[in-house]
Amino acid sequence: MIKIYTDYEVKKHSTFKIGARVKKAAFPETIGELIELINSNEYDLVLGNCSNVLFSSQDIDKNIIFTEKINKYNIDGHKVYVSCGTKGPIAASECAKRNLSGFEFLIGFPGSFGAMIYMNASAHNQSVSDCFICANVYDTENKKIININKEQMQFKYRNSIVQEKGYIVLDAEFLLKEGNEKTIKEIMQRNIEFRKNRQPSLTFPNAGSVFKNPDNDSAGRLLDLCNLKGETYGGAMIFQNHANFIINKNNASSSDVLNLMYIMYSKVKEKYRIELVPEIKYIGSEKTQEYKLWKKITENTEMMQK
Ligand SMILES: Cc1cc2nc3c(=O)[nH]c(=O)nc-3n(C[C@H](O)[C@H](O)[C@H](O)COP(=O)(O)OP(=O)(O)OC[C@H]3O[C@@H](n4cnc5c(N)ncnc54)[C@H](O)[C@@H]3O)c2cc1C
Repeated sequence: MIKIYTDYEVKKHSTFKIGARVKKAAFPETIGELIELINSNEYDLVLGNCSNVLFSSQDIDKNIIFTEKINKYNIDGHKVYVSCGTKGPIAASECAKRNLSGFEFLIGFPGSFGAMIYMNASAHNQSVSDCFICANVYDTENKKIININKEQMQFKYRNSIVQEKGYIVLDAEFLLKEGNEKTIKEIMQRNIEFRKNRQPSLTFPNAGSVFKNPDNDSAGRLLDLCNLKGETYGGAMIFQNHANFIINKNNASSSDVLNLMYIMYSKVKEKYRIELVPEIKYIGSEKTQEYKLWKKITENTEMMQK
């Protein structure tokens, strides 16, 4: 029996620790259940570990499927099979124990494989695309499972065919390289140390980088040049050590975060004529004032995608 809740508070799922209630939340445990829910046409969105989203603090008129319980993985020689909801750090630690190299970068952030393939997650000069072989995705329009290889996946910076076509990642296969547990763990430790000084850990709730890097530049650099580190709006604050992170410092609402995002977006636009594109996705009802603010921040992104 699939666990389905109505008027479900999503705050505890979000790494931002922000969010009111959604109309319906479903937690499938198998890929079959996930497809059954998608085919019901009752759901608006599929989410993994909610580490790249900002839920509204006002009730959200949406039905959401969470994949966190579809979290199986299997390691066979150098091949690693993961279901969509499997978390990166869990697979990375298990691979390290088996002397498998390629997932060292996953140790530092709490993404699920479905989302990481959707947006080609990367860090420390490694990306999900590096060791990727293929994925089964669900084509929601034609209601069928298709197998997509690396070339067909068209991985780019923070993008893949999954995003373009609205596919849902079901599971995936990777081929890792032979390594050495000690060296792999040293690299992981280095990655963790690097983040400790430059990025907020989850002790300061956040949802990773706020904006994508523009071509040949860094959003963090531009925001820093606008002197935005430490800037606050309500309970939200731009992280002191990295200007492209917003932390939930003191019971921030989604509106606090969006207002801060608008300040960041506007300052960079004014000073450098660059319109930053959000990496974080906002999930809220279209009737609210704050949705209008989100539309202002993403106006240009949508024009570019037309
Ligand atoms: C402290 C911190 C550090 C971070 N550092 C990095 C970093 O270094 N590099 C990096 O790339 N990211 C980083 N992130 C961001 C985030 O972890 C990644 O974007 C990750 O891929 C999101 O995974 P998720 O499961 O939480 O996705 P969610 O937030 O649940 O969803 C994100 C998007 O993916 C889509 N999605 C989810 N599951 C599926 C699926 N099965 N099929 C299709 N689409 C799906 C959702 O619809 C949504 O649009 C960081 C986040 C935090 C909090």
